Amino acid sequence: MRLRHHNFTIIVNWMEKGFGCTKLCSYCNWRASPLLPQGAQSHKAVSAFIQQCKKSFITISGGGDPLYRLEENYLNLLTMINTIKAQNFNTRIITRELQHVAKLKGISDHISISLDEDVMQGISAYRNQWHGMDVEFSLVLPPLPAEALVALKPQYAALHKQLRRRLVLRENFNSVFPLDPRLMAFGHKGIVLVPKSVCLNSRYLSTVDCDGHAIVQDNAVLAGYLMNDPDVYLFGGFAKHLMDPIVHLEYGDIDVISRNFNVMAILAEQFAFTFKEVSPPNSYPRYFLGKSVRAGKTVQLVLVKSDEDARKFIFNAQYSVDRFGYNQGFFFDPLIGEANIRHAIHTKTAQLAQGPRSMELFHTDRFSIEQRHRSKLLKKGFMIIQ
Ligand code: SF4
Repeated sequence: MRLRHHNFTIIVNWMEKGFGCTKLCSYCNWRASPLLPQGAQSHKAVSAFIQQCKKSFITISGGGDPLYRLEENYLNLLTMINTIKAQNFNTRIITRELQHVAKLKGISDHISISLDEDVMQGISAYRNQWHGMDVEFSLVLPPLPAEALVALKPQYAALHKQLRRRLVLRENFNSVFPLDPRLMAFGHKGIVLVPKSVCLNSRYLSTVDCDGHAIVQDNAVLAGYLMNDPDVYLFGGFAKHLMDPIVHLEYGDIDVISRNFNVMAILAEQFAFTFKEVSPPNSYPRYFLGKSVRAGKTVQLVLVKSDEDARKFIFNAQYSVDRFGYNQGFFFDPLIGEANIRHAIHTKTAQLAQGPRSMELFHTDRFSIEQRHRSKLLKKGFMIIQ
């Protein structure tokens, strides 16, 4: 009998070039990961990896979707499954490609279907094909504070009843809020929570053989650093998420201003970021784009010379709703006022700030940047008041 031990997962992306998933989720962290495989891992790499597993099964997961364009990639998948079975392990496949699930009867031992709105709508068309198969559903929890997740528990219980199969709730890596797993217990095995600590300590084969810490960013730890470093000013979508995570559920890049070059060194050392300067030589302030080898968010960093300039940068934004930031606590443009800014954030209202504004700290191409920002706000459901 195998002892309880870490999960072993093979991250697949069948595409030799590009990303093998039919979806385009805005929160997808894998799409741009430098550790995303391009094409199938070799028999030798898979064999060496799974030999270390002490559990009874190996998971095949995205990266891209393991069942992406199954007709084209079936041979790759079957070869991987056969390599795993040859060493007496069962296989578990995580997918959203409902239409292909039944084709894996007798081929994969367990299937875990990741839920989203489209997948939910398609289940009834396929579920009667899954008799005799071990199929469960999994759902990534929204990146919300614990109390908001607890309030959703009755909905998860109702969903479980509707699905009539095991429901696995996964803690969200993009969440910056701590979650005590006991709060999400349901008292039976029909709904279980997988805390992110389980995944971070699991073993993965992507382009490298590593543990979860090496390939996935835990945004709670990253946010913990950014929110507590006195030299870090957070602004933009991430700051809105910190202030009102229910209204601003998702965030894209993390916008940071700092007067301390050392912030980049800390982000590099502790969170595996590499920064590239994207501003012209000798310009002020300096702009940097930070990408981490761990699947996670990009950091856009503006380097200024003083705290005054950090605040000046934020307080001259085009819309009132953007004239606030976080530097060991929220701060607000006094000309607009905290109450007005909080209200604008909560109601998703972007009003053009009145009065003259200083453009001296902005990029020479600020006009285009602001046009793009306006489009993004509209896409996110903001009401724009010119
Ligand atoms: S389904 Fe998964 S892999 Fe595909 S885009 Fe969405 S998050 Fe990324």
